[in-house]
Amino acid sequence: MNSIKENAAVADESKFKYERILTGDRPTGPLHLGHYVGSLKNRVRLQDKYETFILIADIQALTTNFEHPERLKENIFLVALDYLACGINPDLSTIIIQSMIPEIAELTAFFSMLVSVNPLRHNPTIKTEAKERGYKELTYGFLGYPVSQTADIAIFKADLIPVGIDQLPHIELARKIVRKFNELYNCNLIKPFALIDKFSKLVGLDGNLKMSKSYGNAINLSDNFDLIKTKIRSALTDENRIHPTDKGNPEICTIYSYHNAFSNENLIRETEYDCKNGKIGCVKCKENLFKIIKELLEPMNERRSYYLNKKDEVWDILFTGTKKAGLIASDTLKEAKESMKISYSFS
Ligand code: SF4
Repeated sequence: MNSIKENAAVADESKFKYERILTGDRPTGPLHLGHYVGSLKNRVRLQDKYETFILIADIQALTTNFEHPERLKENIFLVALDYLACGINPDLSTIIIQSMIPEIAELTAFFSMLVSVNPLRHNPTIKTEAKERGYKELTYGFLGYPVSQTADIAIFKADLIPVGIDQLPHIELARKIVRKFNELYNCNLIKPFALIDKFSKLVGLDGNLKMSKSYGNAINLSDNFDLIKTKIRSALTDENRIHPTDKGNPEICTIYSYHNAFSNENLIRETEYDCKNGKIGCVKCKENLFKIIKELLEPMNERRSYYLNKKDEVWDILFTGTKKAGLIASDTLKEAKESMKISYSFS
């Protein structure tokens, strides 16, 4: 098996200069600390280095939430608010509402002709997500969302996609689809590379491998501090530890994994030592973590309050970004259709 470094789908910054990254989220509800650790923190860093496009993928949200399209508008706003609170700077990052770019749907249709169903069925990310959600039958939209993701990437001419290692099959598929399209129609759409995120997932408060809104085990970025304190108090620790003087195993403790994600080196080491040697109680250890998370979220809350008082400004940021991205999308679609020799119009 290829190592990450050797994999052709992974960016090699020593050989190429990358310019535009595309990243995004499905607006299915407020974002949480798992999103922060898994991607938002990295995006804030990357926006200084690359032209950053962030797609709020409301159409893709329907792949799993099609019964409730009426919730999308509110969720789009909440996700945008979370971005701005985290430090996404609208002067550096272009935030886009997917459904307002109809060219994506059109390019998705063209790409879908080039993909057979079996590779989608066997796509590990699709399989895992379908299993997690208990889907026995997959809808056409759910099965095809890697194709529409490919259209998202190609339409905005993005050359770099920050992803976790588990998302790599999507990028490989995207490259295959774009390569096939280019070869077949003599086109020149950009083949994306994956930029592998070093930090990956945060476990849920219940110890579940993944923090997720749908599992009810998440600390939302917008939760108030009383609620966060309560959630931290309820988190799963080393269950064999009854008294503060019992020797514990931090490796199986949710709180310790959060210390690893958010605390400084000293506190991480101290927590590990004190837990293993029965020198700290879980209550105190959780209080320490709460303080760290509070410090992280305080500046976010300030930005959140600012934008909550200026809702129109948030929508304006979204519409301005979408308009800018729309120009690129229409240019790409024109190029694609001309290559396919299906560029006809009323005159
Ligand atoms: Fe977890 Fe801290 Fe309790 Fe150890 S002391 S089990 S690390 S909460």
